[in-house]
Amino acid sequence: MEMPISIIELDSSTKQENITLILGKNILLKIIEDLEKQTLLKNKTVKEFVSIRNLCHDDIRLLIEELIKEEAFLFAPGLTRTFLSFAKGENLNLFFTLENSLKRYFADSKLYKTLEKEISQTVKRKFERMPRDELQTICSSFMHGFVGKVDEKWVKTENKKLLSIGDKINEKTGFEILVPSSILLCPKCKVILSTEEFTGAKKCYICNKNITRENAKRIYVYKVNEQVKRVWEKNLWFEAYMARLLRKLDCKTWTSVHVMGASGILHEVDVLAIRNGTILICECKTGKVSRNDVFNFCTKISDLKSHIAILALIGELPEPETREFVRKNPAIIRLENMGKREEADILNELRRRLSIKA
Ligand SMILES: [Zn+2]
Repeated sequence: MEMPISIIELDSSTKQENITLILGKNILLKIIEDLEKQTLLKNKTVKEFVSIRNLCHDDIRLLIEELIKEEAFLFAPGLTRTFLSFAKGENLNLFFTLENSLKRYFADSKLYKTLEKEISQTVKRKFERMPRDELQTICSSFMHGFVGKVDEKWVKTENKKLLSIGDKINEKTGFEILVPSSILLCPKCKVILSTEEFTGAKKCYICNKNITRENAKRIYVYKVNEQVKRVWEKNLWFEAYMARLLRKLDCKTWTSVHVMGASGILHEVDVLAIRNGTILICECKTGKVSRNDVFNFCTKISDLKSHIAILALIGELPEPETREFVRKNPAIIRLENMGKREEADILNELRRRLSIKA
């Protein structure tokens, strides 16, 4: 069947975004792509990753969550092991100015909350003025067991845990999520110079000597593939995964874009899909979904004049009232509990709801 719609890719006038226009009968959609996200999604390993069968199933998804937490733990051992000794000192502030991952994984811990209160703004500002790479190196060192020597044995034990989770994921999916890496230390002071290979030399912040990469001492560790981690932490994987399923159903898709509605407002759309002139938008939620999220989604549907909408949830809608509200809207396909469902089953439901023959 011919698509009664024409898609015009406009050469971006700005360097920040790509714009596509879709024209059809009573349809004009202006789609704005985020170049940074699109580059990430086009990455070969990321593409392979989101092609993992049943990626959103708890069996696989929870292992990946565990792996990323374990990695944050490996690269932040100081946090749990020496947090208490930091508690009274200035150096604690380093934790809060640096890695987002710390906040992401430990924000719920009681200790973190208590300590955060103790931070003085003056100290915080001092670190904020420091060049970022310098700060990062120093912070890594603190994370790896404070000013003293890196506890090599500890790092190796944690690395083994990381590997065993990585192996489980590989067994289930055939995908190798870990990449070999190394932590580079000053051979004399055993403090961290870098948590990845570098070119040239790095200055040891204890003995002040320049250490070349040849002279640095290495601990071999594994890391989660950087792009995969980014796509995971931004929750882009679920959108890309849904887009892949929709492409299996002959849709043309756009992932993580802004689309201009009839009102002139730009809406964030997780997945926009077009199939035989039918416009479909999909909202993907990996975490909790509030009543507001659902109402906002309905506004989006009507402003974008999309024909069909999918609400894809790893979990379920929290309230029966919201579920009932969604159920009454025939334009919405509600995919709840995707963490418990097989991919084939999800595809079958979509085929049925979109009236596609298998
Ligand atoms: Zn040194």
